[in-house]
Amino acid sequence: MVNREVLERTLINTLEEERGQLEEQLKDLGSSDISQGDFDPNFADSSQVTAERGELDALRASLQERLKDVVHALDKVSRGTYGLCETCAAAIAIERLEAMPTARLCMTCTTSKSVHR
Ligand SMILES: [Zn+2]
Repeated sequence: MVNREVLERTLINTLEEERGQLEEQLKDLGSSDISQGDFDPNFADSSQVTAERGELDALRASLQERLKDVVHALDKVSRGTYGLCETCAAAIAIERLEAMPTARLCMTCTTSKSVHR
């Protein structure tokens, strides 16, 4: 049988690393308001630029979403509730956590509430 504590520790380390990477990536993408940024108005009518900015917005949004999940999981670590379901407080299966370290609900609650995205 695997040692859950050791595995959780590993997952938490991974989450901490991921948080750092996400923060770096978001920083590289520029400051909070991408719609202004250092966008060159001379290219404002270029559909290519518009498309690229759209992709950048989408990328940033997904990074921020991911970062929010990671931060939430680390917050649970600091409260000592990491790995516990937020609905029924049961321990989330370690296999599930390994697959998705930011999991908030156990498999049962995820299935019954259909919150799984
Ligand atoms: Zn549950």
